[in-house]
Amino acid sequence: MKDYMLRAMTKDGQIRIYAAITTETVAYAKEIHDMYPTSAVALGRVLTAAAMMSGTLKSDKSTITVQIKGDGPIGSILAVTDNNSNVRGYVQNPYVDIPLNDNGKFDIAGAVGEGYLNVITDLGLKEPYIGRVKLVSGEIAEDITYYYAASEQTPTVTSLGVLVGRDGNIINAGGIFIQLMPGTGEDDISWLEKCVENMPPVTKLLEPGKKIESIIEEVLPGRELVFLDTRPVRYQCNCSRERMERNLLSLGIKDLEELAADGKEQELVCHFCRTKYVFQPSEISDILARAKQADVSEPGGHAEG
Ligand SMILES: [Zn+2]
Repeated sequence: MKDYMLRAMTKDGQIRIYAAITTETVAYAKEIHDMYPTSAVALGRVLTAAAMMSGTLKSDKSTITVQIKGDGPIGSILAVTDNNSNVRGYVQNPYVDIPLNDNGKFDIAGAVGEGYLNVITDLGLKEPYIGRVKLVSGEIAEDITYYYAASEQTPTVTSLGVLVGRDGNIINAGGIFIQLMPGTGEDDISWLEKCVENMPPVTKLLEPGKKIESIIEEVLPGRELVFLDTRPVRYQCNCSRERMERNLLSLGIKDLEELAADGKEQELVCHFCRTKYVFQPSEISDILARAKQADVSEPGGHAEG
């Protein structure tokens, strides 16, 4: 089944649900980044969370960036989504190989370490909205729950899962957010707590061929649900030669002069999709000339590149 995300709510409007199946997306990310399983599971969880968060975006060109900055061996983890659930991301260290945790699972908390979760929502307005919380677990799902509680005052149940086979291949991946709207009564809250107590891991729910709709019905039994919409989830990068040129331009005159003086061709690799862009010395000189013309001397480009 193709990856997709789904928005739903209970008929009374008190509970909002975002859910996604992301198996192909995570498998693709693992392949292009050549990741070891621990790194793939960590990035897979963040990509899945981003895919579900895309359900909160409405306008074109709006994006959400989820960034995990820990002090563990994986380094930072980054995932970006747009309003069409196109996701992309990377981890700083694709080759994390640490022992399984006490539960026999990939030790994502150990790979991530201590640090911060940043969620950057860019609605195409002047300034993006940046929410930042301390990591409370490093397992990512708990951290996202904490983010929604602390930064957006929205009680959220988060389940994220990536199942890896013995051969290292991704068997399935997906996630569920269940959010309580303001004014939810005590009855609803205790009912939901029971549902969550009984909820198996999302990777167990994702049996082959099973639809997200029936998984949500299974997780929230006895409530009338309204399925609002679905969107395909894809791993898609938006890099281009022009974008890479802009990144070079944003290096500033001093760095560009050094590159030009180097006199060699320069290879830039996109962090998100590993596409290589080669710039000849003459092209570097052209970019330098443009930088001087525009007097672009501000350092610090954007994430792509
Ligand atoms: Zn790219």
